[in-house]
Amino acid sequence: MFQSYENRGGPEHCAERIKNLRDLLKKQKIDGLILPRSDKHLNEYVAPHDERLLWLTGFSGSAGQAIILSNKAAIFIDGRYTLQVQNEVDLKVITPVPITEQLPSQWLGKQIKRGQKIAIDPTLHSVKAYETFLEVIEKAGAKLISVTNNPVDEIWEDQPAIPENPVVSHPKKYAGQETSEKIELIQSQLKDKECDAFVVTAPESICWLFNIRGSDIRHTPIMLANAIIHRQAKPELFLKSDRLGTRAAEQITANARLLNPQTFDDRLKFLGSKFKKVLIDPTRTNSAIYQTLRSARAEIIRGDDPCALPKAKKNKAEIEGSRQAHIRDGVAVTKFLHWLSDNAANNSLDEINSAKALENFRKETGALKDISFETISGSGPNGAIVHYRVSEQSNRHLHMGDMYLVDSGAQYQDGTTDITRTVAIDAPTTKPTGPMRRHYTLVLKAHINLATAYFPKGTRGVDLDPLVRAPLWQAGLDFAHGTGHGVGSFLSVHEGPQGISRRATVPLEPGMIISNEPGYYREGAYGIRLENLILVTEPEEITGGEHPMMHFETLTLAPFDRHLIDCKYLNKRELKWLNNYHRTVYKTLSPELKGPVKTWLKAATNPIKPEPKKTSEKA
Ligand code: ZN
Ligand code: ZN
Repeated sequence: MFQSYENRGGPEHCAERIKNLRDLLKKQKIDGLILPRSDKHLNEYVAPHDERLLWLTGFSGSAGQAIILSNKAAIFIDGRYTLQVQNEVDLKVITPVPITEQLPSQWLGKQIKRGQKIAIDPTLHSVKAYETFLEVIEKAGAKLISVTNNPVDEIWEDQPAIPENPVVSHPKKYAGQETSEKIELIQSQLKDKECDAFVVTAPESICWLFNIRGSDIRHTPIMLANAIIHRQAKPELFLKSDRLGTRAAEQITANARLLNPQTFDDRLKFLGSKFKKVLIDPTRTNSAIYQTLRSARAEIIRGDDPCALPKAKKNKAEIEGSRQAHIRDGVAVTKFLHWLSDNAANNSLDEINSAKALENFRKETGALKDISFETISGSGPNGAIVHYRVSEQSNRHLHMGDMYLVDSGAQYQDGTTDITRTVAIDAPTTKPTGPMRRHYTLVLKAHINLATAYFPKGTRGVDLDPLVRAPLWQAGLDFAHGTGHGVGSFLSVHEGPQGISRRATVPLEPGMIISNEPGYYREGAYGIRLENLILVTEPEEITGGEHPMMHFETLTLAPFDRHLIDCKYLNKRELKWLNNYHRTVYKTLSPELKGPVKTWLKAATNPIKPEPKKTSEKA
């Protein structure tokens, strides 16, 4: 199985390890340490080697940061983890602080005293994040100390090694474009920006550029590597040659110089020694690289990673690949939903055996390379924990009458998927309650608002976000996460620069794949999220209109639970969309299904008719 269910976080070692860390810092005459959950490539998901925050505090979420001072410690988390962190850290030793209330730098600014020394590992912070801390600390008359050995590594005795797994070719039939063309494109951008070189540290960008994939990080097919793209000379890729398969080696050596990772620092210094103009993305490059370039006297130009946008705008082969991946995935998810409804009355289902069943249905496709993230399988109150990870300890039964939220995805060579469905367990026998149906339908309205949106050139995710939330806002409800994130092509399930949220300021462009995932979470009761992936289409003329408009094509194919839909909250337009969507789901998936699953899908996608309005009593 790709997913593990062992208990990962927990407060058992928190006090002892923080004490050990404090002892070490005291010996080094340092007053505190800033510790993010990060690695040298600033990845969202990190290798076990880089799980320092988890090891130290017991917090197992995918984003967070701790600041350990000699007398105080805080852990900063976002809205997804406010509940989880309470159970995982020792609250006597470390205090959770929601980042919406206070940023780590703001908190530190209030705590720090003149003359104090705070340690930071510059390889784990972006240039921007490092500078934010530097400003606060200097303002307080204190000192920021860049350490070369992370203090946590020094006390972590059985720290796992840095992964160096095989790297393979990502064939052109899936990538849609040769490496040489992509390199030319980046080089022409360097020319426009009058830069001599670009230092690429985001693994997804390197995978995209060189048409390769790795397996250094679980569920994301990337490898940990750096590269330098020169405006004129061949790009340099820093990767041990024995990690490459024959095809990948041929493909890379035809387009780039393959260099030992140990020479990366020397090559940065070389750029400096020649006074080169070097482009870096300050949000995706770690501060240690920046400091090396600067000390070597390179001229640093800050800008967006030039690979990010062309990677986000999928080409024909990638779009067609994604469509195929979604048909395959839709078949697996449909078999799973049928299995759920078939077994609900046995009272034998739980969060783990359901997640395992789903993984098995995906495996049956014969094309599954990995799951795209750990399945969020949450029944009843666990569904309200936005980024819930089920473990042996937390595993909960799927009781009849429960709402069950399952957010999952697959990595296929032709595409990455990400889908959430919320279902009523044992419906129609155990009827879902009125509030459940109302909340579900409001989330569905929000989902449909985005799925049916038309928007002109230049529209950003931030512009569409309120449109999605409107039905919830009108009911006095909201959800504490973004509406949508970009998705890679057999790459990261969370991919920038596009998104649909309050922070998404990049204009949407044709070919971008984004998630559409509004939700509603009732703490202690249930969670609802309805997620499909959508593709931004080419602008089209609207009959009688004046401006061409972009639109979304929904890629994900699986039914929504009709038992949770209350038609009285849907207008005609919304109901029409839903019935059309279900018709497409059946038409596309049914040729791949037979027997009881096909029959079940037919019933699950039958047109929903609004209940006839009660006629007023006859006089
Ligand atoms: Zn998802
Ligand atoms: Zn998602």
